[in-house]
Amino acid sequence: MNILLLGSGGREHALARKMSQSSHCGKLFIAPGNAGTAECGTNINIGVSDFEKIKAFCLENAVDLVVPGSEEALVNGIYDFFGADAALQHIPVMGPSRTGAQLEGSKAFAKLFMERHNIPTAGYREFNAGNYGEGVAYIQQHSLPIVLKADGLAAGKGVVITSSHEEALEEFEQMIQSAKFGDASKTVVIEQFLSGIELSVFVLTDGHTYKILPEAKDYKRIGEGDKGLNTGGMGAVSPVPFADKAFMEKVETKIIRPTVAGLSAEGIVYNGFIFFGLINVEGEPFVIEYNCRMGDPETEVVIPRLQNDLLELFTAVSEGKLSAQTIYTDSRAAATVMLVSKGYPEAYEKNKAISGIPAPADDQIVFHAGTRQDEETVLTNGGRVLAITSLAASLSLALSHSAQTAEKISFEGKTYRRDIGYEFI
Ligand code: ATP
Repeated sequence: MNILLLGSGGREHALARKMSQSSHCGKLFIAPGNAGTAECGTNINIGVSDFEKIKAFCLENAVDLVVPGSEEALVNGIYDFFGADAALQHIPVMGPSRTGAQLEGSKAFAKLFMERHNIPTAGYREFNAGNYGEGVAYIQQHSLPIVLKADGLAAGKGVVITSSHEEALEEFEQMIQSAKFGDASKTVVIEQFLSGIELSVFVLTDGHTYKILPEAKDYKRIGEGDKGLNTGGMGAVSPVPFADKAFMEKVETKIIRPTVAGLSAEGIVYNGFIFFGLINVEGEPFVIEYNCRMGDPETEVVIPRLQNDLLELFTAVSEGKLSAQTIYTDSRAAATVMLVSKGYPEAYEKNKAISGIPAPADDQIVFHAGTRQDEETVLTNGGRVLAITSLAASLSLALSHSAQTAEKISFEGKTYRRDIGYEFI
């Protein structure tokens, strides 16, 4: 089958590589892709939300499956766009409908959904310009810290945790009255702060049944010891040691099952990945957020551990036959260390020549994130540049293998965290 994958990060390189290894893979196109995806298929210069161009490309190239990597195209309704067009209806899109994607696209939607289905999450209220005064009063009597969340997508910056009422009121004013995040902060969710350790759990679903994929933990802060600014993610590990059988059983019964049953009961079409951002509060899982796609860098540890043929799983999803599938997981641990450009997540320079990237092996793959090919040279082309994933018998071995390769690869301004997975070693 011919596939069109949308995106250009490390996640997309991991998905492209996995799909290209399937015997069912015909032509694989990646829009727009990076220097790594170009080794798995053909990069094409189309934006992920340019639906008309995507349509023309799919028809000209007999594409049989579309796989959106990030949330952007999904929240913009690519699933519905294909479903509404007679010429495209035969092409499955691996992702939720526009309504399903609201689980990620609107925090207020996600909160109401969880409330309807008794899914454990932080207590909250939502406010907008219409009940602004109530919001101020709510903040004034709220215990500290206070979590404020812009309702819509805000490039990972829309969540602010405040440690004083003054700071919370100021942030609330900026979000609603001064449109700090544009339309995304017209509505603000104010929620209870939960204290615990976070992890990410992924399922693949056809909207009725689901299969649980290996779990992961990512490291968001730029600095070692989880200090400094938030980033897209500086590394990840899988498995997560505290996600033992008993904990994962709670996650399945209290969170995954009611989520998929809720989607099904409400008639929300959902064919693809659900990413559960969870927090373990004294042994009990709570949902921090839903995402309607895989995470990045979590994909770079989850997909290498998945032993199934990904295209067979995708086909089962689109045919509603997922229940017949069994997930097989590599028993080895996986660790990803992300190499980023100096200055990231603030301003950084691009176009630095990269050298020393080793060829992929069974126990190590360097996924490309922000890179581009310029004739014979691979250049940096983003904040997050390369994701070094190693697989080994233990997490500490996997981490040390990734660290060794992180040393060997060079580009001007190379920066990375040396403490990924530190709390598990
Ligand atoms: P992402 O960068 O994953 O897209 P986002 O902008 O969608 O994030 P959330 O994942 O909801 O936002 O929150 C970002 C981070 O803020 C979480 O990973 C978590 O560390 C913290 N956080 C969010 N909600 C809470 C909460 N109720 N209690 C404690 N910490 C929280």
